[in-house]
Amino acid sequence: MIYLDNASTTKVGTDVVNEMLPYLFEEYGNPGTLYDIGQRAKEAVDKARNQVAAFLGADSPEQIIFTSGGTESNNMVFSAFPTIPRKTHILVSSIEHDSISNIGFPNQNIINVDENGKIIWDDFVQRMNRSIYLASVMFANNEIGTINPIEKIGEYCREHGVLFHSDCVQAAGCIKINVNELCLDFASISSHKIHGPKGVGALYIRNKNLINPKLMWRVGGKHQEFGYRGGTENVPGIVGFGKACEILTGNEMRVGSKITLLKRKMWSKLRSNFSKYGLLEILHDNANSAESFGKILNIRIDGVDAETMVLMLNAKHVCVSAGSACRSHEQQPSRVLKAVGLTDDQARDSIRISLSLFNTEEELNEAADIIADTVYTLKQG
Ligand code: PLP
Repeated sequence: MIYLDNASTTKVGTDVVNEMLPYLFEEYGNPGTLYDIGQRAKEAVDKARNQVAAFLGADSPEQIIFTSGGTESNNMVFSAFPTIPRKTHILVSSIEHDSISNIGFPNQNIINVDENGKIIWDDFVQRMNRSIYLASVMFANNEIGTINPIEKIGEYCREHGVLFHSDCVQAAGCIKINVNELCLDFASISSHKIHGPKGVGALYIRNKNLINPKLMWRVGGKHQEFGYRGGTENVPGIVGFGKACEILTGNEMRVGSKITLLKRKMWSKLRSNFSKYGLLEILHDNANSAESFGKILNIRIDGVDAETMVLMLNAKHVCVSAGSACRSHEQQPSRVLKAVGLTDDQARDSIRISLSLFNTEEELNEAADIIADTVYTLKQG
């Protein structure tokens, strides 16, 4: 199998699994208990909190809340704001993940993006006003891989007294995230996108006074996660997540550069294969995704329905995605592709290829051959 859907989820690293195993077999205590096995589990959670804090460049592990993943971290930010007089609106980009854009916040202003998926700076500035208390812009988009100028947005927000959140789920592991340098008040990350286990993530909160746990939708024990999230901790998951973060800390740009290079090579191999078949004019790179830094390549093949393509490639043991994972059961064309100017038909002809360090150049060449051969066969038929 050639797995090219790493924006959807990733393979768990061997070192990560090894770190988790004791917490499934021997060290299964509840971190909330006083006896030794429980206290050792608590120490493991504390260690992981330190690893995640170091990964994000946070000042203190207490700024990290463990969650069930990126979705919950994103939801949390929007669910718990104390009301501040006159600050009634939030500002989000038009290409946020569903876990933000589907919240349907009543006073929500949308920042438009350009044809590459980057926020339009003038539009952002124009929409900034005294009623805004929170802006949220994702670091790297999950469908087209666009990277937003988070540091510039963060500085602007801080200067204007607006809280700033970034969904860093897809940037994590490929781009260095330093919450202080980026002027972030909140940041969301997810373990299973960085070779950690599923069902665990984190929310960075710069200053806990910014969020009122009493307003949050999750009611439970007051003792876990500093009162911000009740429920017994997912100890093995948290331990694995911490290890995945530790492995990547300081290596993000090297990993990101390597993956970007692989992606660009694959794009040029695809182009030369399509050219060989006289099909180059039907192959397109959506939103210049091959150019952007990181793992995501979003391509369009005119007249070839993405779902058909995904199933045909699956039959040849190549995994890619029609749109983002969360949309692959929907018939609706991707909202993100439409936001960057694609028509419904163009969006339906688009597939997402996303890489990880586990991919080799050989398998990417093979996948590029299989994709071109499949399209050639379809066009012949
Ligand atoms: N944010 C982005 C940008 C994502 O790509 C995803 C998952 O695809 C999420 C949030 C949700 O993360 P999780 O699957 O951990 O809930």
